Amino acid sequence: MPRVIETISQMRQVLQQMRREQCTQEPVVALVPTMGALHEGHMRLVEDARQKADLVVVSIFVNPLQFGPSEDLDKYPRSLERDMEMLGDLADIVFCPAVQQMYPNGVQSTTITNSQVARLWEGATRPGHFDGVLTVVAKLFSIVQPDIAVFGQKDAQQVCVIKQMVEDLNLPVTIVVHPIVRQNNGLALSSRNRYLTQEQADAACVLSHALQKADERKEHGVKAMISAARKQIGSQAQVRLDYLAVVDEHSFCEMKPHDHGPAIVIVAAWVGTTRLIDNMPITIPTL
Ligand code: AMP
Repeated sequence: MPRVIETISQMRQVLQQMRREQCTQEPVVALVPTMGALHEGHMRLVEDARQKADLVVVSIFVNPLQFGPSEDLDKYPRSLERDMEMLGDLADIVFCPAVQQMYPNGVQSTTITNSQVARLWEGATRPGHFDGVLTVVAKLFSIVQPDIAVFGQKDAQQVCVIKQMVEDLNLPVTIVVHPIVRQNNGLALSSRNRYLTQEQADAACVLSHALQKADERKEHGVKAMISAARKQIGSQAQVRLDYLAVVDEHSFCEMKPHDHGPAIVIVAAWVGTTRLIDNMPITIPTL
């Protein structure tokens, strides 16, 4: 079982000690930030970290700063004991601070803002979300001082803003991105899938099927990709689309009809009261 640490001072102390105890001169430290309620998707990130690093730190923190006032902060699943069992020996340390530990003054006077990509898509639907994400990730980087940090492609826009933060602020950490882990039926694993009934979970598969349809139409350009994907989602009455777009992988601006090259098809939708996101990186060939 990993060692559980709840305070920042203990985290710093233990890391310092572990760094000293490592046989290698400069142990590679990996951080995998999560909000817990771990599933196989998280575990693959941790496995990736294990392969690349000498010390693996998994943070489990449901960050209030990234939830909007009407979002699911209170009901977000928390299952620390089960998470610890799942992690077993894969992680060396689980850092699970209380909210008071991370935000002792209640609110932060200093936060991190991305004023471009973070305003679009997820940021448009969830104002302030990415400020909350970037602020907590910057704090975790400062506390753990990892050499590498592993994030999932599942949250593609999050990966984009974190990479920009690292570049803009010259943070000494390498960002590793792990591909999306899916169920056999295509549904991307997510802690929020726990909110779904079986019927809703079956219906939610339409999101990944829509992304596949877009991929199949990539030779016909952006418009064809979007209309095929929208048609697929329209076939499932239980799914209410928030957005579906083909975007540039760096700017997250919409690709124009005749654009080609690396892109990401992004989708967000409501299934009942649960909001799900998914995406697929696609290279659009020259038309
Ligand atoms: P969360 O606990 O939802 O904040 O996720 C923690 C990390 O796990 C983030 O970097 C997510 O992108 C990643 N993650 C969550 N679900 C998946 C998945 N199905 N495949 C790959 N990575 C994932």
